[in-house]
Amino acid sequence: MLRDTRKMLLGSLKVCVYSKCIYCRKPRVLAIKCFKGSLNLQRKYSYPAGDVKSLRSIITPPISKIRNIGIMAHIDAGKTTTTERMLYYSGYTRHLGDVDDGDTVTDFMVQERERGITIQSAAVTFDWKGYRINLIDTPGHVDFTVEVERSLRVLDGAVAVFDASAGVEAQSLTVWRQADKHHIPRICFLNKMDKNGASFTHAVESIRQKLKASPLLLQLPIGEAKTFRGIVDVVTMDQVTWEAATGLDDGKIFKRKPLKETDDPDLLRDARDARNSLIEQVADLDDEFAELVLGDFSESFDSLPADKLHSAVRRVTLAQKAVPVFCGSALKNKGVQPLLDAITWYLPAPDECSYDFLQWYKDDLCALAFKVLHDKQRGPLVFLRVYSGTMKPQSAVYNINKNCTERMSRLLLPFADQQIEISSLTAGNIGLTVGLKQSATGDTIVSSKASAVAAARQAGRNVGSKHGQTSEAENLLLAGVEIPDPVFFCTIEPPSMARQPDLDNALTCLQREDPSLKVKTDADTGQTILCGMGELHIEIIHDRIKCEYGLETYLGPLQVAYRETIQNSAQAIDTLDRMLGEKRHQVTVELEVRPWVGETSATAPVIEYAENIYDSLQPDLQEAIANGIRISYLQGPLLGFPVQDVVVTVHAVAVNSDTSLTMVSACVSRCMQKALKKADKQLLEPFMNLEITVGENHLGIVLGDLAQRRGSIQEIQSRHDNKVVIASVPLAEMMGYSTALRSLTSGSATFTLELANYQAMNLPEQTALLRKMTGLA
Ligand code: GDP
Ligand code: MG
Repeated sequence: MLRDTRKMLLGSLKVCVYSKCIYCRKPRVLAIKCFKGSLNLQRKYSYPAGDVKSLRSIITPPISKIRNIGIMAHIDAGKTTTTERMLYYSGYTRHLGDVDDGDTVTDFMVQERERGITIQSAAVTFDWKGYRINLIDTPGHVDFTVEVERSLRVLDGAVAVFDASAGVEAQSLTVWRQADKHHIPRICFLNKMDKNGASFTHAVESIRQKLKASPLLLQLPIGEAKTFRGIVDVVTMDQVTWEAATGLDDGKIFKRKPLKETDDPDLLRDARDARNSLIEQVADLDDEFAELVLGDFSESFDSLPADKLHSAVRRVTLAQKAVPVFCGSALKNKGVQPLLDAITWYLPAPDECSYDFLQWYKDDLCALAFKVLHDKQRGPLVFLRVYSGTMKPQSAVYNINKNCTERMSRLLLPFADQQIEISSLTAGNIGLTVGLKQSATGDTIVSSKASAVAAARQAGRNVGSKHGQTSEAENLLLAGVEIPDPVFFCTIEPPSMARQPDLDNALTCLQREDPSLKVKTDADTGQTILCGMGELHIEIIHDRIKCEYGLETYLGPLQVAYRETIQNSAQAIDTLDRMLGEKRHQVTVELEVRPWVGETSATAPVIEYAENIYDSLQPDLQEAIANGIRISYLQGPLLGFPVQDVVVTVHAVAVNSDTSLTMVSACVSRCMQKALKKADKQLLEPFMNLEITVGENHLGIVLGDLAQRRGSIQEIQSRHDNKVVIASVPLAEMMGYSTALRSLTSGSATFTLELANYQAMNLPEQTALLRKMTGLA
């Protein structure tokens, strides 16, 4: 251990501080002392000679002391500031980062610093009072909900940060629902208690109303807005205050002492009431606690021990029956340390979460790649969460999604853009690897192909699957994050033809990081096409190509990704007869297309075979036919958009013995196009669910504008002083909406937008669009 540590961290420096491990009590190197030169572990802080740096963070804690936590929040709620304070108080950074100055550790992509928003979810590791906290920063912008989904997969718990002066805002609701879907226990942090207009009561009420959650008030604020100076811990009845200190007012020092009558009689009464209601609330949700309360403490709750209440709160939080609420001001350095305590107390350890697939792997390695970053020197860095087994550097692993074996060279612990080398990564931990070249975001990594096969066999037995190898293998894939189809696209051009390979390379790297970005080549013009989830998404990709790959590219106008379908059935027959060398390839295909009627739309081809022909077709021939049909789905007959909701019936296929399968596919695809052309064709356009939160005074103007955008209003709700408009609107009408809404409402309204479905365009609209797109307008 000593040797390894010295080698991996220090080079010419010396290690000399020993101590007992806080976890296993064995002697370990817990710190290094620098004797000459300076040690640069984190860019922020270099350790000059004589300085001692604690190495506690590179010791692997037991699984019960690990917390994999996400921070979720609406933009500007203070996620980044709160994260920075956590890193500071846990001793990882030596100065307070400030988003307004653009020097925070977690927002490390240049664009994020410029825009002040967190796009990429970076994982940060630090220790707090013997616990290892892996913090996964979830993005807050609507265009990046796939990123949110993906990061939620690797979390065991989450902290929802709210602006106490605004309460629950629109985007938080989206993320909250996603967390519900993944059954993630949560706690809430009401930030910005120092701000004018901050209201603890209002914010709690909005958690109850909008999130439909049961808040457990574990703290009460002492003072509000300008007078905010601390909190009352409702569980212990202590007051915790941060007094204005002379000199460095970093909030490191605070006072915790029992709240007394003499301090503030009103506050004491409020705190007692809060504690009594908390006890009643928890007793309602937890039988074990109810028994205790009714048995020994039915007279008075005052003597009920804090630790009993504490563990009951933990149980109801883990069962997601309620959410503990805390408050503070990250910017003014108040309330963050109790929040860190709360993370370790109330949120689950990895072994308290159940995962179905673990039974198939037992102690074999199983990990999920949840993030890829490209590093100029080291190549791709793959962030992994290990679910079972152990990962070691210099070892080979097997990627189930890519069906390939890869070798990783180094294993690192992520401290935002700084990393510390480690010698193994055990179950429950998050780390990053150097050397995996093929693995992309969302891939499942195991120790070997044999291990995957063994697990697949187990899974097959357990699931009772009859579908053979592939579907068993699918059961083993951990990610399963649904990546919605991109709704926008535009052409992208390099500064010169000579730079096309550089652009291709940049796009390949970016796609591995972000599977919601799709890149294709236009079959007619050969142009490269970017497909993304929103205007901001494509803009960010454009910026990143410039900053990170030094390429000034040109984007064509942003266009909506339409779909195509048919309204009636049509038949076609086609023959392909071609001499290639000595061989004569001859195929005749007869098929029929008809509209699919079903509740949900069918984006993949639905293929049927006429009676009596299916059995006569060899499997490879069937595959070639299916391939031809799939190819024809990629480009519809009207404008070349993907085809959906079409059922194909193959009536006859005649093939001579010399015909290659590629020729069969080509003939089927041509025949499909013929049939689709014959039918009545229909364009489908993406419709979005839109939710706008706006003040009463601007409601009229917003509704008027929506009507012009072909929007249909479904509901208008009241939330406090605001109106919430729920509407459905075609995406094509939503270009530049954020700017438009801002100017209509002087920046007071917010909105979220998500793909609802594809709907048929009416004839005049379709004709107008066809004219415009084919240049006839
Ligand atoms: P994020 O978008 O959720 O990451 O939020 P940031 O951490 O970037 O903060 C957004 C803005 O709110 C910045 O201008 C911060 O200085 C400010 N802010 C963050 N926390 C607080 C707080 O506790 N009180 C006040 N008054 N402002 C805060
Ligand atoms: Mg941020």
